[in-house]
Amino acid sequence: MRSAEFQHSQPDGHEGHSPVNCDECQSALQSESRQSLSFLLLDQLTIPAIGCDEHLEEFRSVCGLTTEDAAELLDHRPAGGISCPSCRLAPYNSAHPMIPIQNGATVVLACPEHQSEIVQRYHTGLQTQTYLTTGFGTHTNSSL
Ligand SMILES: [Zn+2]
Ligand SMILES: [Zn+2]
Repeated sequence: MRSAEFQHSQPDGHEGHSPVNCDECQSALQSESRQSLSFLLLDQLTIPAIGCDEHLEEFRSVCGLTTEDAAELLDHRPAGGISCPSCRLAPYNSAHPMIPIQNGATVVLACPEHQSEIVQRYHTGLQTQTYLTTGFGTHTNSSL
């Protein structure tokens, strides 16, 4: 009964329709001023990212699952700056992928190399989180 109409609610349509349901993320992502820029510190990485506090925090905690050290979130440029020169320029380039975080999203303003690294971290973290929340006793092998 939900065959045809169901397709209308697919969140990944490419008609300019944003999949972001979080108003705070929306306004952060649409703001061209970089005042809402936050910095995710993870291992040696310093990743500039945009999103609302709630979803950036979610992003931080999920990425933090992939490292032994805690991931940190700064709302200002870190004292040492960004060590990667490409990442330093990245906020001024235009194309950045949106990473869906629950009902919100974050945009990572890093160079392509570090973008894909942090996206991988996030996905690894999500798998870890799923594993942790479903419990250690169950041996599901869903990821492969
Ligand atoms: Zn949000
Ligand atoms: Zn970089």
